[in-house]
Amino acid sequence: MTLVNNQIILAERPKGMPDSDTFKVVQKDVAELEEGQVLVRTLFVSVDPYMRGRMQEGDSYIAPFKLNEVIKGGSIGEVVESKSGRFTPGDVVIGMFGWQEYYTANDLEIRKIDPSLAPISTHLGILGMTGLTAYFGLLEIGQPKAGETVVVSGAAGAVGSVVGQIAKIKGARVVGIAGSDEKIDFLKEELGFDEGINYRTTEDLVSDLKRACPDGIDVYFDNVGGGIADAVFTQLNRHARIPVCGAISAYNLEKVDNGPRVQTTLIKKSVLMQGFTVGNYSDRFNEGAMQLGQWLQEGKLKYHETIIEGFYHIPNAFLDLFKGNNIGKLLVKVADQQYGK
Ligand code: NAP
Repeated sequence: MTLVNNQIILAERPKGMPDSDTFKVVQKDVAELEEGQVLVRTLFVSVDPYMRGRMQEGDSYIAPFKLNEVIKGGSIGEVVESKSGRFTPGDVVIGMFGWQEYYTANDLEIRKIDPSLAPISTHLGILGMTGLTAYFGLLEIGQPKAGETVVVSGAAGAVGSVVGQIAKIKGARVVGIAGSDEKIDFLKEELGFDEGINYRTTEDLVSDLKRACPDGIDVYFDNVGGGIADAVFTQLNRHARIPVCGAISAYNLEKVDNGPRVQTTLIKKSVLMQGFTVGNYSDRFNEGAMQLGQWLQEGKLKYHETIIEGFYHIPNAFLDLFKGNNIGKLLVKVADQQYGK
C-alpha cells in the first residue's frame, strides 16, 4: 500500500508576520526506496526563529527556502524501512527532515541518537542546536568569569535558559530579561538566575537594569536586539563582551529599525561585540554536546520544553515563538515511537 506523506510547504513569502497564506499542506505519495536510502517517520519537529529569515529572499549564511518546497528544519524520527546497512527499523535518528510526516533520507544525511541517554527530544534542544548555540556563544565570545555580571535576553527561551545556567556554573551573577512574570519566576525559582526583568511590564528598563546589575554588565548575550539591547548598552562595563546570537525583535519588521549608534560606546568602553552562528563551531559539536550532557547528568543544567502535539499545528507553533508562548525549547510532537528501541 502506498504511504501518503503530509507536507507543509512555503506557499508565499511573508511580509511582516507570517500568516495562514504563508504555508500550505500538501500530500505526496512516498516513493519506493532505492539502495542506500532510509524511510523515516517524523516524531518531533523543531520550530526555530531562524526559519523566519529563510522565508525571505536575500543573502544570508544559509539559503532561503524555495517557494512550494517543504520547510526544512531539525527533526527527530524513527526508521520505518531501510535499504542501507547503516540503519534498521526502529533506529531513532536526527536530521533536517523538516515539516513533513515522512522523509526519504540518504543514509549519510541522518545520524542515530541514543535514546537511553536522555529523552530523544533533548537532541533538538539542550543537547542539540540550541544548547550548542548557548554553549559556544557564551563561552567562546562572552567568556564569563566568576563574579562578573551576565545579562541574557530571550532568557526563558531555548538558548537563553541554557546561557544563564552555564553562566551560573561559571560563577557569574546572572540577570535574565523575558516577557512574562511566569517566565521571570521560572528563571529565578527553577533555574537559579539571580534577577529577572519583565521587559513587557517594566516602566523603565534602564532603571531596572541598574537595580539588577549594581556592578554594571560584563557580558550581554543578545537574543533579541532592538530596544532591549539599546537599554543594556547604557550599563556596559569596560571590556564587556556581547555575543550577538539573534535579533528576534526585528525578524518580522517591514521597515529597517534604527537605534542609537553603538560605535562610541564600543570605543569608550573597549567592548567586544561579535555576531556568530552555531555552525561556526561545527567541528567542536561533539565536545559541546558531551559537556552539556555531563552537566545535565550532574544536575547542574535543567531543561524545559514546550511541546505542541499534532502535525497540523506546526505553523502556529512556529508563530508562537514570536508571541513568546514558549518556555524553553518549543517542539511539535508529530507521532509516538512505534518500535520503542
Ligand atoms: P526561544 O528563545 O525559545 O523563543 C523565542 C523567544 O523570543 C520567545 O519565547 C519570546 O520570549 C522572545 N521574543 C519574541 N519576540 C520578541 C521581541 N519582539 N522582543 C523580545 N523578545 C521576543 O528561541 P531560540 O531558539 O532560543 O532563539 C533565541 C534567539 O537566538 C533567536 O533570536 C534566534 O534567532 C537566535 N539563535 C541564533 C543561533 C545562532 O546560531 N546564532 C542559533 C539558535 C538561535 P519573551 O516572552 O521573552 O518575549
